[in-house]
Amino acid sequence: MSRVKKLVRQEIQDLSAYPVPNSEGMTKLDAMENPYTWPAVAKEAWAEMLKTLPINRYPDPQAQHVKNELREVMGVGDDFDILLGNGSDELIQLLAMALAKPGATILAPEPGFVMYKMIATFCGMNYVGVPLTADFELDESAMLAAIKEHQPELIFLAQPNNPTGNLWSQQSIDKIIELASGVVVIDEAYTAFTDADYLDLLEKHEHVLIMRTLSKVGLAGLRLGLLVGRSEWLNELEKIRLPYNINILTQASALFALEHYDMLLVQTEQIRVDRLLLMRDLDSVKGLEVFPSEANFVLVRTPANMARNWFEELKQKNILIKCLDGGHELLKDCLRITVGTTDQNDQLVSALAEISLSGSVH
Ligand SMILES: *Cc1c(COP(=O)(O)O)cnc(C)c1O
Repeated sequence: MSRVKKLVRQEIQDLSAYPVPNSEGMTKLDAMENPYTWPAVAKEAWAEMLKTLPINRYPDPQAQHVKNELREVMGVGDDFDILLGNGSDELIQLLAMALAKPGATILAPEPGFVMYKMIATFCGMNYVGVPLTADFELDESAMLAAIKEHQPELIFLAQPNNPTGNLWSQQSIDKIIELASGVVVIDEAYTAFTDADYLDLLEKHEHVLIMRTLSKVGLAGLRLGLLVGRSEWLNELEKIRLPYNINILTQASALFALEHYDMLLVQTEQIRVDRLLLMRDLDSVKGLEVFPSEANFVLVRTPANMARNWFEELKQKNILIKCLDGGHELLKDCLRITVGTTDQNDQLVSALAEISLSGSVH
């Protein structure tokens, strides 16, 4: 038996690494990135500022300036603390590490964000996925029953949810929070694309934390996520955060971007407008079912057994989206499309229209 097989935990050997497809030269509508870059003047000012950084020095371990600016931009009250992560993925990992007593459980609705389950496995925690209803609403009674049965240490609720794009009923969320004896994290990765805002849950409940990220608003390359909550929670997580997890280039660039947040808001507003147009246009593609979205992506369902086929045909046309068929059974025949620029969206819709027609001819 090889030493690797003998030594590496079986559940790690059983995993496959998070797949990232090669997207070189493609119209990239697969990963919820903001398709826009910055105006030339902003890019120049940013590059000028980067020049001045003392790259030979460790960064500010608290990233205090970034936190102050985030507090301002996101409207975080003084009663709450902020913890920064190398993407919100790292924050999920910190939470799991802190709560991973033997037998501890993470619970989340499914289909949902895949990292909740992966990180549960990394940290040796149990994972319980509770299926959504067929129209992707929370199955309130199933959620409440699963919480009673498993008493999860950690519950993740993504609002809006990825990959379904919708918000769940506030009443169901409230009941889950009431019943939970562990921590409930509201993952607001897509907060820029919805009017819904869950920050006020922090006032009402001592066991709720709010997670956000700069990835989806146009800074995916930076890797900066934030957890907002009461200091009694964040102080514990702070102890296991690796020092200097937010590097000097990220800190300085995030600060710059946050000081120019209007520039990003113009872009996210445009994406919100284009989302409506995209949904309308997708709706006119023969055989395609379009689900409502509060995020910067749209979930669609193809005619039976066509999703993989349509995905591959789009790839042939140099358009990369995400095929969800073959994952969770509720996502049968589903594709996820990130809202791109107006041109990219048009390109995608024409390609899909063509594919849907050629498919029906046999
Ligand atoms: C994209 C995403 C994240 C993670 O974002 P980071 O890039 O790691 O900050 C977290 N939660 C959900 C639901 C997401 O879709």
